[in-house]
Amino acid sequence: MNRRRLLQIGSLGVGSIAITSKLFSSAKKITIGKKPLVVSTWGVGINANKAAWEILRKNGRALDAVEAGVMITEAEQDNCCVGLSAYPDRDGHVTLDASIMDEQGNAGSVAFLERIKHPISVARLVMEKTPHVMLVGSGAQQFAVEQGFALEDDKLSDSAKKAYEDWLKTSQYKPVMNIENSKGQNAFAPHRFANGAFNHDTIGMISLDAQGNLSGSCTTSGLAFKMRGRVGDSPIIGAGLFVDNEVGAAVSTGLGEEVMRVCGSHMVIEAMRHGASPEDACKLTVEKILRRKPSIKTDDIQVGFIAIDKNGNFGGYSIQKGFNYAVCYADDYNTLIDAKHLL
Ligand code: ASP
Repeated sequence: MNRRRLLQIGSLGVGSIAITSKLFSSAKKITIGKKPLVVSTWGVGINANKAAWEILRKNGRALDAVEAGVMITEAEQDNCCVGLSAYPDRDGHVTLDASIMDEQGNAGSVAFLERIKHPISVARLVMEKTPHVMLVGSGAQQFAVEQGFALEDDKLSDSAKKAYEDWLKTSQYKPVMNIENSKGQNAFAPHRFANGAFNHDTIGMISLDAQGNLSGSCTTSGLAFKMRGRVGDSPIIGAGLFVDNEVGAAVSTGLGEEVMRVCGSHMVIEAMRHGASPEDACKLTVEKILRRKPSIKTDDIQVGFIAIDKNGNFGGYSIQKGFNYAVCYADDYNTLIDAKHLL
């Protein structure tokens, strides 16, 4: 409502209160959410949120919270999908992707990074100490070592070794298109395990701090048994992660190739900028992915987004059933929420 319109309403007088309130009630509903707030993907988000909350509850910065939060997941043992214990690429090496963004729109990311325990912290230093946004492969590793990060052994965790050996029994070393298929029908298709879990995931975390500033992070080993050199959406700013302090923050998980093709997280933010709620913005972005590629229905591809807005409202949406996210905004509130889904 512009100033002129407000002046017109102001000049209507007492008798027009009903008209005025009707005008306001038809205006965009402003809902006030939670602050500080941290939201992260999947069940691992509960533990990650706890570390982030320790910072947020003391009026700390969202950027520090989203780094500390996902570091918990990066350090976990027996995690198929994040950090050095994760499943390797098809040549048997764990390669990691991560990105981070702050409230000023600064961004840092690393991709195809090997033998470094905390890619998210390297991404933060790329943002803070270099003129660049992204470092990859041996260059990212060299930078990490220069910054004092230890070079860990190139050794698979017990669970990753077992999963890799199982996969090798049927692997075909040739690139196959349209690879995501829950039935595991081709060379490096991620598949669902008996417990229902996919063998790829990302911890993505977005936060609004007490000062009203937004930040986000994400970190992953990408798709298990991927082609060597494959990089997913997570380190690509605008695909796996996007933060605009005027609007909100969004992060994705799922088949990164589909997220990259629509600049998914950026699309979520732009939808919120034009008035969509976080949940609706996530929904219309997964709808866009599905519209572009209807065969996703039969290929069983999963993509999910979570988002928060500047007012501390939050939401998530996925293509398939089974995506959830952890929400924390009080000492006694850190809860896993099932995302709504399209199919
Ligand atoms: N988005 C990640 C990637 O494609 C994987 C995942 O979240 O499941 O690398």
